[in-house]
Order: sequence, then structure tokens, then C-alpha cells
Amino acid sequence: MHKPELKQYEKPKHINDYPCGPAALAGTLVAKNAGWRTKRPIIHKEKCAGCYLCYLYCPEGTIFKEDKKINFDYDFCKGCGICSKVCAHKAIEMIKEGENGN
Ligand code: SF4
Ligand code: SF4
Repeated sequence: MHKPELKQYEKPKHINDYPCGPAALAGTLVAKNAGWRTKRPIIHKEKCAGCYLCYLYCPEGTIFKEDKKINFDYDFCKGCGICSKVCAHKAIEMIKEGENGN
């Protein structure tokens, strides 16, 4: 899975460089986009079995593997809670944005 990442927008130099479809290449993000999140997932690593189901289900691709467990890229996580719902081990808790000093 490709993680979202910021890419610098490069202004086309020639008319042939302009996209003929929508607007820009898929995956081009010019800014972080998680500002409207009201809840955020946190991982309880001691409960995580490393099954990566949450990684497969995350619609934003913001879960990444870390030390045979997982972690989140909060720059792009939308706080939808799907990862928490699918985790059979209850290793992911959704907390209010701003709690725990986050
Ligand atoms: S679904 Fe739960 S147990 Fe599986 S990797 Fe994600 S947090 Fe860990
Ligand atoms: S809350 Fe949603 S967007 Fe954020 S990591 Fe979980 S599944 Fe992905």
C-alpha cells in the first residue's frame, strides 16, 4: 500500500504536460489533510497481534508497520475509526482529539 505523502506541485512547462483527465496525478497531496479529525486512533502495542487487518482496511493508507506491530500517520488519518472496529484484539482505541496531550 502506498502511504500518502506530500509532493511538490510542479507547474507544467508545456501544454502537453497538462493532464487530459481530472486535475493532477493521483496521489498528489500539496498539504496535510487531517485538520477536521475529532477523534484519533491510538495503539496499545501490548495487545497488538501483528495481524495487519487494520492496515488492510484503513481507507487512507495511513497505517504503517512498525516493530512487527503498527502505527499511524496522523498527518493524514481522518479518524474514521475503521481500524478500531476491525481489530479483534481491541488494540486500537479511539480517543478525542486533544486528549493525552495530542
Ligand atoms: S488489527 Fe489489531 S492486532 Fe491486527 S495489526 Fe491492527 S492493531 Fe494489531
Ligand atoms: S481512523 Fe480511519 S483513517 Fe485513521 S488510521 Fe484508522 S482506519 Fe485509517
